[in-house]
Amino acid sequence: SAQGTPTEGTPTSGVPPVDAAASVARLHSAFATGRTRPISWRKTQLRRLRRLLTEQEDAFASALRADLGKSAVEAYVTEIGFTIKEIDHTLRHLDRRLSPRRVSVPLPLRPARARTVREPLGTVLIISPWNYPLQLALAPLVGALAAGNCAVVKPSELAPATSAALAHWLPRALDSEAVAVVEGGVPETTALLEQRFDHVFYTGNGAVGRVVMRAAAAHLTPVTLELGGKSPAVVEPGADLRAAARRIAWGKYMNTGQTCVAPDYILAIGETATGLERHLADAIREMYGADPATSGDYGRIVNERHFDRLTALLADGRTVTGGGYDRTTRYIAPTVLADVDPEAPVMREEIFGPILPIVRVPDLDTAIDFITARDKPLALYAFTASARSKRRLTAETSSGALSFGAPNAHLAVPGLPFGGVGASGMGRYHGEHSLDTFSHTKAVLDKPLWPDTLRLARPPFTARKTGL
Ligand code: NAD
Repeated sequence: SAQGTPTEGTPTSGVPPVDAAASVARLHSAFATGRTRPISWRKTQLRRLRRLLTEQEDAFASALRADLGKSAVEAYVTEIGFTIKEIDHTLRHLDRRLSPRRVSVPLPLRPARARTVREPLGTVLIISPWNYPLQLALAPLVGALAAGNCAVVKPSELAPATSAALAHWLPRALDSEAVAVVEGGVPETTALLEQRFDHVFYTGNGAVGRVVMRAAAAHLTPVTLELGGKSPAVVEPGADLRAAARRIAWGKYMNTGQTCVAPDYILAIGETATGLERHLADAIREMYGADPATSGDYGRIVNERHFDRLTALLADGRTVTGGGYDRTTRYIAPTVLADVDPEAPVMREEIFGPILPIVRVPDLDTAIDFITARDKPLALYAFTASARSKRRLTAETSSGALSFGAPNAHLAVPGLPFGGVGASGMGRYHGEHSLDTFSHTKAVLDKPLWPDTLRLARPPFTARKTGL
């Protein structure tokens, strides 16, 4: 429809409809009171969120296990502990980052003082996906609160246990006048998106990203879209293949491949393809044993729809290792496919599961052409011993992030911005970049009325004034 209301939707099953308008209006009024502006309020919220994560670590970890079969260690490192680190980093730098910055004034405008002041936007909407259902709801919330906003968090309905845990705990731990959790799927999110927000922060797939942006346009609301896509891993001859395979397998099979920045496929230059096959199989065995189905460290596919989508891709290449699956437990073995045709279905869309295709290319030029001919990836990974290749990849390709030697790890550097470019998204966050996203940087100029230094700028523009 003209309002961008999605047509496909799941019927609400006995869930009472949320009064989106009323909840959002409540937050707008809370913001208008100014309660969220003091830095002390912001710090208190961040500290309370931190305490919640520490005190309820077990509750959140079991929710993550129920939703995705995540091991407790992975749940801690990539979700709970990750968010705690983001809070600590934010708290450590908040005073400095929020203090006004002086800007120099050009001579003809002096005397005057210029500075920039960061002000909160108001009430923001955070819509998060199921794959890191805690981190991707809370890391944006950290930024929204640090910047002094009210926030509605809409967790993913596809991770119901985590969604319920957030809905239960966040209003208890935080200022419930300023933070609301709205649970639900398409109808509830659609109702929220009809409201006027001051920013919408969406993480998920690009199709819904378009729905979000269209809905936001009606209110002229800015958006951050954290999307996905196919992130390649380039491997060059001369790189240590065993070490590279270990790193790639780690990044790929973490969270069963359901990671937005996971290496989606390998672009193996020349002979590296053959060596990688053996080393990837070894790396998988090292991590998950001979039968990954029995490993407590290996997760499961989120639901049957994704399971069916993924198993249909298993025939798109020669199976190097893995290939097995079990629908009742939604288990898919960590799988490597070789000799994959670049036109095969597995190479058309983001895989978002534990299937790793190896595409062989003759040289770096072909690899660069392959990457630049496609959507700009969220992340590009490269394993190379050549400084020249690193320079070329940096200069000749575009991606949300570029990482040499380590997939996924750039997310854990809080000073680095996290976000996509082109089809992989717009906007960025983490650390100070979240403050940029969730604040307005206001220009402030303060010029005394006397002396009357602007007289030269006022008509009449006589020859004496202009010197002509
Ligand atoms: P999802 O199905 O959980 O959807 C994300 C959110 O959008 C949910 O809260 C959902 O309720 C809402 N939603 C779904 N349909 C909607 C509609 N029609 N209108 C309004 N809201 C709607 O998650 P997903 O999209 O399957 O997530 C996976 C995708 O997200 C992958 O493409 C992945 O790469 C990407 N991703 C990106 C990042 C990142 O940080 N850039 C992180 C994780 C995932």
